[in-house]
Formats: sequence, structure tokens, C-alpha cells
Amino acid sequence: MPSFPRAARDAVRDTTLRANLRHATHTIRDKRAVAVAELDDWAALREAGRQIKDHTLRHLDRYLEQLEASVTAAGGTVHWAVDAEEANRIVADLVKATGETEVVKVKSMATQEIGLNEALADAGIHAYETDLAELIVQLGKDRPSHILVPAIHRNRDEIRDIFAREMSAWGRPAPEDLTDAPAALAEAARLHLREKFLRAKVGVSGANFMVAETGTLVVLESEGNGRMCLTLPETLISVVGIEKIVPTWRDLEVFLQTLPRSSTAERMNPYTSMWTGITDEDGPRSFHLVLIDNGRTDTLADEVGRQALRCIRCSACLNICPVYERAGGHAYGSVYPGPIGAILSPQLRGTGSEIDASLPYASSLCGACYDVCPVAIDIPEVLVHLRERVVEGGPVTRGGTKTVIRPARGHAAERAAMRAARWASTHPGVLRAGQRLASRTRRLHPRTLPGPGKAWTATRDLPPMPPEPFRDWWQRTNGGKDGLR
Ligand code: SF4
Repeated sequence: MPSFPRAARDAVRDTTLRANLRHATHTIRDKRAVAVAELDDWAALREAGRQIKDHTLRHLDRYLEQLEASVTAAGGTVHWAVDAEEANRIVADLVKATGETEVVKVKSMATQEIGLNEALADAGIHAYETDLAELIVQLGKDRPSHILVPAIHRNRDEIRDIFAREMSAWGRPAPEDLTDAPAALAEAARLHLREKFLRAKVGVSGANFMVAETGTLVVLESEGNGRMCLTLPETLISVVGIEKIVPTWRDLEVFLQTLPRSSTAERMNPYTSMWTGITDEDGPRSFHLVLIDNGRTDTLADEVGRQALRCIRCSACLNICPVYERAGGHAYGSVYPGPIGAILSPQLRGTGSEIDASLPYASSLCGACYDVCPVAIDIPEVLVHLRERVVEGGPVTRGGTKTVIRPARGHAAERAAMRAARWASTHPGVLRAGQRLASRTRRLHPRTLPGPGKAWTATRDLPPMPPEPFRDWWQRTNGGKDGLR
């Protein structure tokens, strides 16, 4: 992936993409604001969510062990995966053990993060996405661009064309007279998917939450496809990040209020599916939980950055972000786009690549993401923290292996300017002389900076230099007491 600025430059030139994004994000953000305003205790719920997540992360080892014991006691099997490769191998082996060559999937960020579909394809296993938006992305050989609405960059015309062109290669074709009416598109997807639900013997899911005390997994969704994937197949494999734990059912009370309102602006999502191990004559006969680390314990070790692990993937920060609205999700080079992607991907993957080193800069630091976040993640604080990491470089640990990241290129001039500013600030005589010189020569100053500062001043004017330094003014007017001039 190219760096964020280069990818975003291409994206902002696409006027159709910008129109699609603007319409979708503004619609969702306005509805969310109304749904949130309905609750008088929203601030208290937000704080409760923050505290539950922080408490759980502080005692993550204990709750993970409790979860494993609960799932096992309920008839499930727990597998631990340190990275994406191990998780993919575990899932592929579990599917192969059933003798099946296809699986149906519930929408899951964790499986996208580890590239499960591609790994299963390499093992000769077809993975069918069943969420409508994920289906559009899969049929269109596309990449998701939003956490909640992966095909947000597509409009109805484009979706109709994708269905008409691609559905026949994957199963039941789209009707010949398919229009771009939402009901017609949904019906085409429903018929196309129905045969897969009824045929599949293996389902793969993620989970929004895992309850440590009972081993219960929870999925929130709007379409009912998740309920079908979770109940019809004989084998269910759930792939979940280790940070998705909550200690008790009582804790769910908070998130089942904040997540639907923050994500789809609903008081309650249409389908909330919960399952605990296996149950006689109901649902799958065998249940496997694959817990993935994939950079999470390294993230947990960072006192500032760890708050990103509170995320409940509601996508409110994407919908409010002025940068995301213009650049779209693909420019972030990760399944986690927008503000949360800008702080999560460089922590999960490290800042060694061009794209990951550029993500902490993919923000204006306006703070709108922090204001809407239902678990109060201070995204601007983490962005600034990660910028420091990118500029300084130094040793980082990823998956138990220590590597040294070189200081990012392109920041040499900034570093030199900061060093010069520090030196001048500790030499008052030099600072005073420099300020006077700058004031006297102010008419000769350029309006834009040359070299690396050129891009910054292309859209901004440098502030005008005052005719007299503040210290001189203070001395001359006795701190303003002798009258202002
Ligand atoms: S960072 Fe906050 S607002 Fe953004 S997706 Fe996560 S929980 Fe939602």
C-alpha cells in the first residue's frame, strides 16, 4: 500500500466516491445524534463502558482463563492463536476435519484482519460472505471501506451492475429484470444466499462480545443472516480478538444500549444472537472458539495506545471524521479505516511500513471522533503519541519479537526545526535578537515556506509578524500600564 497521503490524493479526485461517502456518512451521523440524544444518561453509559473495558483489559489474563473454562464447560473447544497465520491454519484444519469445502460467514472484522477468506481459498475452501454489504464487496472483488457498511463507497446503480454481472458465477443468478430499487436488490441477495444457508455444514463468525462468567458469545446484526449462520450449520467456528471480553452479563447491559445507537442509530438492533457452547438438539453440534492475539498484547503494553482496545467497532468515529468523509476507507490500507484504523493498525502491525507510519497523520486532530466514541477513546491523544513513535523510531516488540524501527523519513526538517527552537529557547539573548531581526525584516518575509514546508503553506498563510516583539512591548509599556500603542 502507498502511504495515506498518496492513496487519499487519488481517492479525493473520484467525485462519485466523494458523493457516495458524503451522502452516507451525513445520513448515519445525523440519525446517530438523534438516537443518542434520546438517552438522558448517555454520558454515564459512556463512562461505564470506558470503565468496564479498562477494568477488563487490566485483568485480561484472568478473564481469558475464566472464559476458556466456561466455554469448555459448555461443550466448546478453545484454540489460541498468536498471529494471523496460526489462526488461519487452525480454522482451515477445523474445516478440513469436517470434510467440507465451503463455509458461510457472518460479518466479522477479526476474520478480515487475518485474511481468513484468502487463507481458506488457498486450502481449497470457499468462504461465502452472507452480510449484504460484505456480499457486494465479495462479488465485486473489492475491498471493504467501512467497519459497519463495507460497501459504503458503492451506490445502488453500481450494486445492481455487480449483482447482474457476478451472481451467476457464485450460485443463483440475479433476476434478469433486476432494478436498483433497494427492495429488489435485497430480494436478489436473499434468494442468492438462501441456498447457501441451507447447504452449508460449517459456519464462521466473529463476536461483538464474549462473557467470561458463562462463556457466552454475542453477535449484534440487522439482517438475520448472522442468526442463520450461527444456528443452521453443524459446526460453528468463531474467531474473536482477545479484547472482546466482558466479565459478566450485567456488563452487557451497557454495551447493548450504546453499540446500536452509535452504529446504526437504532434503539436496539433487530437481531441479538447469543450462544453458550453447544445445546442438545438445538444449533451446531460442535463449537470452536479461536482467540486471536495478532498484536493485541503488544498494544496492551503501551500505556497511552492501549485505550484503542476498548473499541466496540461501532464506526461512529468514521462517520463523523472529515478526513474519512473525503478520502474514503481504502486509503487507510487496512480493514480498520477512519480514526480507529489510524490508531489501531499502526499498533497491531507496527509502524515499520510506509502506510502504517503515515496513518497517525491521517487526521486533522479536530477531536470529533473522541466526542462521539461510546467508550471515550481519546483518539487525538493516541494519534499524537503514535506520531512521536513514528518520528523517534526505536525498539518495538511485535509478537514477542523485538525489532528496531528507523525514525521515519521526511521528518528530518521538522526534527531540525524543533532542535533549533529548543536551543533558542534556552538562550534568551539569541532568542531576543532573533525576534527583533524577524520583526524588522517582516516586509521581506515570504507568504509561503520553501522546501518541506511548501505543502503545508500551499493552503495556509503564514501568520504576519508583529512590528515589535512582545518582550520589547512589555518593557516599553511597563506591562501595558503606560497605555497601549
Ligand atoms: S473508536 Fe470509538 S467511535 Fe470509533 S469505532 Fe471504536 S468504539 Fe466506535
